[in-house]
Amino acid sequence: MLPTARPRILIVEDEPSIADNIVYSLESEGFAPCACSTGADALARVEAEDFALAVLDVGLPDTTGFELCRELRLLKDVPVIFLTARSSELDRVVGLEIGGDDYICKPFSPRELTARVRAVLRRADHRPKSAPAAPSSATAASSTEDSAPAAALSSSQGDTTPVSVDETRCQIRYFGEVLPLSRYEYRLLQTFAKHPGRVFSRAQLMEHASDEPEAAMERTVDAHVKSLRAKMKTVRNEVEPIVTHRGLGYSLAEKWV
Ligand code: CA
Repeated sequence: MLPTARPRILIVEDEPSIADNIVYSLESEGFAPCACSTGADALARVEAEDFALAVLDVGLPDTTGFELCRELRLLKDVPVIFLTARSSELDRVVGLEIGGDDYICKPFSPRELTARVRAVLRRADHRPKSAPAAPSSATAASSTEDSAPAAALSSSQGDTTPVSVDETRCQIRYFGEVLPLSRYEYRLLQTFAKHPGRVFSRAQLMEHASDEPEAAMERTVDAHVKSLRAKMKTVRNEVEPIVTHRGLGYSLAEKWV
């Protein structure tokens, strides 16, 4: 393994203009991107080299991004961001269920992509190590290589969250107190609590929390987050339970005082 100061990002995208765009924006933000256009190429690259993160297009010529994700994970623990077409909502949900760390809908801005890459790398960096880290340079890239992506889906051992969800009763306790939540607020907080620290966009929150995401407006999410925060503040006024990520969305706090 060659230690490198810049996190190496694998990009698997068969549309050359999109791939070029991603390579350019990641390079200009200090990453070391490496692009290929088929699943077979990607597997060969991952076998030969270590990557801090992989960006996978869902529609590839020889496979799907989901299938590729499964195969990559058999070789290495690498965080994955899926690129998906805006029209196929099902894809996005499936992508997270099979263990993707995040997804981005096309068309996306370079700024959104690099922000999401940073957020996923930051989360990967905070994961508990599944195995002793190999001695290497202390870069973000090398420290992510030994972490377990599955750990992102449950709360990590170090930071226990004061939010506990009782799905059989449809109740959520916060510092031991049952919050009086509307159904929408319950689903919002349930979504946050399943993935502490993960940044959800408003569109993602609508999908998770609303029966009819199409009918809901993104502003609705802001309104529900606001009332959810207010209810949580009545339990602990000094604690900021939900973090706003400008231009991205919201997440449940990871650090609790
Ligand atoms: Ca494609």
